[in-house]
Amino acid sequence: MGRRNHTKGNRAKTVIAALAVVITGAVAGSAIVLAGGSAEAAAVETPQLCSAGEQVVESVVPLRGADEPICLPISEKADTSSRIDPNYTRAATTAIAEAATLVDQVEAQDVTVVCWSNDDWARIADWFKAQGIDSIARAFGFVSMPSNVVNLSPSICDKLDEIVYQGARPDTMTASNAVGVIVHEALHTTGIADEGQTECYAMQLTATVAAELGTDDAYGATLADLNLELNTTSRAGSVYDSPECHAGGSYDLDNNTLWQ
Ligand SMILES: [Zn+2]
Repeated sequence: MGRRNHTKGNRAKTVIAALAVVITGAVAGSAIVLAGGSAEAAAVETPQLCSAGEQVVESVVPLRGADEPICLPISEKADTSSRIDPNYTRAATTAIAEAATLVDQVEAQDVTVVCWSNDDWARIADWFKAQGIDSIARAFGFVSMPSNVVNLSPSICDKLDEIVYQGARPDTMTASNAVGVIVHEALHTTGIADEGQTECYAMQLTATVAAELGTDDAYGATLADLNLELNTTSRAGSVYDSPECHAGGSYDLDNNTLWQ
């Protein structure tokens, strides 16, 4: 019905094959624009529906049965269960606030970041597949526009949990991608649909989000550099690449994180 889903995952098998050479494990892709999706989600404060410490996430995906509220715990710890993560939520909201100071079309807004469990992610993917969209199972995350909810895959949250809650500082593309996905999907909630534009901004805001997640400046700079490398190698020429993504290009945020 005109709704668009924006996912960050594996664009196509050709892209997957190319990326598999460079990166391993869960990171095997870039972003996707899906047409015709219909998972509408909006986190709202309805305490009467949920237990204390939980928040309802509205979604057309009937994860808990038709017309049943999806109550998720608000939890800030490494956790494989479905949850709303306040730290990833704050990081995404900060990324948008930063972008709003740099991009005319972006306005600051609050977002909610949901980490889905393997089981729930599989159910979401199955639901989308039944609607003719079969890429969610391989996606890193998605936003159903318009929505202020960022949906993250279990693999992305697992990597974020390692960094944020377990103190790991992996200097890998997998880690840079996980942090970058928060920014990428957060930007989609502002209405930016173009994947090349979105990813270009996301790269330049990766260090900002890494700092918000509690890492030091050096690590944030490393992740930003790795994201740039990922996008200029494996994703070159893909929908996530843009000729305007360079120093002085129209997508240069001029915040001196990637290009001095
Ligand atoms: Zn995207």
